[in-house]
Amino acid sequence: MGSHVGLGANPPVGECGGKDQVSHTTGINKIPKGENTMFEDKVLICRDCGREFTFTAGEQEFYAEKGFQNEPVRCRECRNNRKNASRSENREMHDAVCAECGAPTKVPFLPRNDKPIYCSACFAKHRAQR
Ligand SMILES: [Zn+2]
Ligand SMILES: [Zn+2]
Repeated sequence: MGSHVGLGANPPVGECGGKDQVSHTTGINKIPKGENTMFEDKVLICRDCGREFTFTAGEQEFYAEKGFQNEPVRCRECRNNRKNASRSENREMHDAVCAECGAPTKVPFLPRNDKPIYCSACFAKHRAQR
């Protein structure tokens, strides 16, 4: 099990030939005032939940600044969900029984006898106790 954390954010893009975009233009590309942005809000479809979400001009600018080539494929909500879930998502979950309340629970590791397993509620309780 190579525990490679998949950050599926940026699949490598097959680049054919680099078009060099020189950003150090000497005044040729001055954007006239009044039209201060070349970005417009864009509506994209979230890959996860299928809902429409807005890729705002501000975000596009941010992406462009960072040099990201890919548009976001998920809405903000799903991105956050993934971030939160990504730690356990790729793991196999094992059934276990809470040592405290006896409730069935799942743990991301193989339960061992020498360690008590707690359900998330009891686990939180135990952590809060100290
Ligand atoms: Zn979504
Ligand atoms: Zn419990």
